[in-house]
Amino acid sequence: MEWETVIGLEIHTQLATESKIFSGAATAYGAEPNVQACAVDLGLPGVLPVINEQAIQMAIKFGLAIEAEIPERSIFARKNYFYPDLPKGYQISQFELPIVSKGHIDIQLEDGSSKTIGVTRAHLEEDAGKSMHEGFGKLTGIDLNRAGTPLLEIVSEPDMRNAKEAVAYMKKIHSIVRYLEISDGNMQEGSFRCDANVSVRPKGQDEFGTRTELKNINSFRFVEQAINYEIERQIDVLEEGSEIVQETRLYDPNKNETRSMRSKEEANDYRYFPDPDLLPVQIEQSLIDEIKSHLPELPDAKKQRFIESFKLSDDDATLLTSQKEIADFFEACVDAAGGETKLSANWITGELTANLNKENMDITDSPVTAEMLGSMIKRIQDNTISGKIAKQVFEAMWNGEGDADSIIENKGLKQVTDTSAIEKLVDDVIANSPDQVKQYQESPPEKQGKLIGYFVGQVMKQSQGKANPKQVNELLKQKLNS
Ligand code: ADP
Ligand code: MG
Repeated sequence: MEWETVIGLEIHTQLATESKIFSGAATAYGAEPNVQACAVDLGLPGVLPVINEQAIQMAIKFGLAIEAEIPERSIFARKNYFYPDLPKGYQISQFELPIVSKGHIDIQLEDGSSKTIGVTRAHLEEDAGKSMHEGFGKLTGIDLNRAGTPLLEIVSEPDMRNAKEAVAYMKKIHSIVRYLEISDGNMQEGSFRCDANVSVRPKGQDEFGTRTELKNINSFRFVEQAINYEIERQIDVLEEGSEIVQETRLYDPNKNETRSMRSKEEANDYRYFPDPDLLPVQIEQSLIDEIKSHLPELPDAKKQRFIESFKLSDDDATLLTSQKEIADFFEACVDAAGGETKLSANWITGELTANLNKENMDITDSPVTAEMLGSMIKRIQDNTISGKIAKQVFEAMWNGEGDADSIIENKGLKQVTDTSAIEKLVDDVIANSPDQVKQYQESPPEKQGKLIGYFVGQVMKQSQGKANPKQVNELLKQKLNS
């Protein structure tokens, strides 16, 4: 039997507000345990929550970016459950009237085509604290610094059909929240994490199969692995004639498997009800218009602009706009390179990215700045150095040896374009290679193209890579054919 997978994601992204969603405590990551939890976050009696206006604005910003409806009225609700890191015994979330309703984004599939994924809703809620199991012997430590940090939970329609689509969707949402500067998107610190809902059904069946929910995954790679593992597991269970149990499962990256955590709770288990301590939020159209007028250029629009005004390929444009920082780097590099776009794109997606990956570095920390790279590209353009020598210059810049011009000067890397100097090298090589010359001259023209490579290589070697390759080629052809 052929199976089809159905996936829906719930993404939790921490909003980059300075203070918490219902209190004035700081949200910064990494402080000593429990120094950033005030009476409201601790759920002490007699305190009242006050909504953080910035969190509302950020949620609306996101809604507008995915072309969603922003309802006039939005309500906070209590979601009741008991857990040590949830001091109030309930989480303030949204249930019936979320701040953002139906929207959509486009993802790009591997074959280059694009697909629209529906976003059901996005709602505001508070994050819980953290339970710490290491270093306390048989006890569990509770750190409430995270309690009350604003979260935007973004719920997708069950529109994805394989793990790659789910990853593409997650990456796109990640890129959007970072472009909007509403979240730092830091996945190691848990600022951006997702629950993946997965089910399978016989191909052609309309009805969805029973789903499981894979909780709290905080890397793109793990999402892909967890979903793929879960698809195989569900198919095995069904092909054995058993049934899928609707449950919450945990992905273990060390073992690459998912295992059961608890049976899935239903909405009514949470006894949702409107929080009587918080007034309904009334959103004025003027606020929406104001936020809309300040929306930055988003990834899709930037990509289109890069393709049109910089004449980039779809692949290059996709890569260069995947992060706002990369796009900014590219534009600054093109500026410094005097408008040269193709070489700028090649160097950034090639050499620079390779070096950054090797050192596990962000582009914002690159020792070679956009201006340095652009100035080097200018020297390729004006024939001061060849593309090959440029790699040497780039490495030196990467190692902190200065900018392109001083490296070219200090290391004597200037390209030799003086025809008589090159001619001398060409003559020497020809004189020293009688066998190769004979072979070349006895070969038909279609084979000569390949054989000339030997001579070019020798001349370049003699010049330590500094001869202008185009001139070398032309001179060699002239001499060998005469
Ligand atoms: P809950 O809030 O209880 O987790 P929802 O109905 O809000 O449940 O759905 C949560 C997510 O699960 C959504 O992203 C939705 O697209 C997805 N989903 C719902 N049904 C299925 C299914 N049968 N298979 C895969 N994903 C599903
Ligand atoms: Mg859920």
